[in-house]
Amino acid sequence: MDKFTILKQYFGHDAFRPGQEELVDAVLAGRDALGIMPTGGGKSLCYQVPALLLPGVTLVISPLISLMKDQVAALAAAGIPAAFLNSSQDLEESRQVWGAVRRGACRLLYVAPERLEKQRFAELMASQDIRLVAVDEAHCISQWGQDFRPSYLKIADFVSALPRRPVVAAFTATATARVQEDIALRLGLRDPVRVVTGFDRPNLYFDVQRPGRRKLQALLALLEGRRGKSGIIYCATRSKVERVCEALEAQGFSATRYHAGLEEAERRNNQDDFQYDRRQIMVATNAFGMGIDKSNVSFVIHYNMPKNLESYYQEAGRGGRDGEPADCVLLYSDGDVATAKVLLSRDGQGPDSQELERLGAMVDYCKTAECLRGRILAYFGQPHPDRCGNCGSCRGVYTQADVTVQAQMILSCIKRVRDKLGYYVGAALIVQVLRGGRSQRIRELGLDGLSTYGLLREESRERVRAYLDCLEAEGCVYTEPEHATLWPGSRAGAVLFHGERVSMTTRLEPEIAPVPGRKREAGPAAGPPADEGLLSALKAARTLLARREEVPPYIIFSNAALADMAAKAPRTMEEFLTVSGVGQIKAQRYGEEFLAVIAEYRAENG
Ligand code: ADP
Ligand code: ZN
Repeated sequence: MDKFTILKQYFGHDAFRPGQEELVDAVLAGRDALGIMPTGGGKSLCYQVPALLLPGVTLVISPLISLMKDQVAALAAAGIPAAFLNSSQDLEESRQVWGAVRRGACRLLYVAPERLEKQRFAELMASQDIRLVAVDEAHCISQWGQDFRPSYLKIADFVSALPRRPVVAAFTATATARVQEDIALRLGLRDPVRVVTGFDRPNLYFDVQRPGRRKLQALLALLEGRRGKSGIIYCATRSKVERVCEALEAQGFSATRYHAGLEEAERRNNQDDFQYDRRQIMVATNAFGMGIDKSNVSFVIHYNMPKNLESYYQEAGRGGRDGEPADCVLLYSDGDVATAKVLLSRDGQGPDSQELERLGAMVDYCKTAECLRGRILAYFGQPHPDRCGNCGSCRGVYTQADVTVQAQMILSCIKRVRDKLGYYVGAALIVQVLRGGRSQRIRELGLDGLSTYGLLREESRERVRAYLDCLEAEGCVYTEPEHATLWPGSRAGAVLFHGERVSMTTRLEPEIAPVPGRKREAGPAAGPPADEGLLSALKAARTLLARREEVPPYIIFSNAALADMAAKAPRTMEEFLTVSGVGQIKAQRYGEEFLAVIAEYRAENG
């Protein structure tokens, strides 16, 4: 068999995705490999295809137990013998796995990195023919990365203790150049073939909304249009998770929650509820996600701004892994910046300069009027067009207003306050002064006596904030990063004294992210449109099968596969095999059942 046959027969795919073939070829040629591919890019295939072509067993090192379980279930559903060893198993279960490995009846063995340190395991492995060690989520090896995991550091020792050095292939979704170097170094990769595929995820729609104090309403409005869809809502803190989840349940949404403050059993239970589509919305802190391999997540809403764009893109990237359109909406408010700083602080120390820099880029993303996707891609050093056509900035409707007068008021207010106090203050206080606030602090500092006090009394707080953001983007003011105080920027003098004009672009009635399911111009959705009625019949059939086999529905067929099935509406097994995502084994197992549903639907609907 060759790689294409494997791809079609076991996985049901007609072609490799960008990067996959190169990595598969590298491994088959005996080269080490480093694959940086976006979430949902199809990293697993890069070692699963070689595993079926190489003799012996492929060892897969994966950070999370839940992840292994699902991967193994998905492989089993495709007719590929695979197993995992981890601490959740009892003696009998692990004995069976050992037996299968010894008999050669297991092509892929998944383990957590901690297992490598166990003597007995190392001995068993030394007696096996291991040609490939695949390291998933390889960024966990780097202290520079997001989720440092010390036991990853032992992988290199383990590999070099094997009687014959296998090929080592490492995969991750998020790695800056520095983390890539770290991975190669610490895993002891030998002249690896390095493949970095585009970070772009064209099927993800990005948007930032600034609902001010009405965040919860904004969230509910977003969810209202998405009833019946599966999605994740990320909050910055545990208490936010609790409150938001409660509010959603009160509104009749099927939601559950996840954060580090819950008992492990409850966490697992909630995660399963989400994974198996028993609950549709997961409200969680960033503790949730690495083990999640759910492909039909159709929205990821951030209730708070994350601490950097790496985290944001990783979390948002959990949407749309099946290639279907998905929405990534960030609900920004100014308070998020302070929260992020607190979360970045340790031992009474604030964030370091590098963390502040990354936070700054995140805030810029929230405030920019430029293409959001472009911002992200630029951050990761990827080329991109000026406008992507599928983000809030590119699809919004804008108006321009001359705000020179307001700019002058704001700049002189900043100056007056500074003259009065001898130091610069933060944006919140400046806004209060301009709007004629009556707080005790203003009275104590005597700021209500300034000539600029109350100049923007008629304008809403959000509006004044918007002026400030505009001025910042235009170089008229500048937020000093350490104390977040507001200083005049390089253009301040020109605007204040030389009549230079400032104009502000505002998004008109921000399109609250398009209604899901609607056709987008961008995105990979090609081919004939699926028949919605047939699609829901197929989904119902899948749900029943999933219950019967006690696996998550997407393990039977992904949403993308069902959509293609509904579009092609196959009549014969032969036609059924042309559906994307349908391999030989799945066709054998499920073909008849789905063909029957299609035939019945056709009979009823002509
Ligand atoms: P990653 O680990 O990179 O996040 P996965 O390996 O889980 O991504 O793959 C994500 C999805 O893409 C899966 O649903 C998988 O079936 C699909 N996929 C992978 N490779 C291909 C391919 N060559 N053609 C079509 N779909 C693919
Ligand atoms: Zn765009």
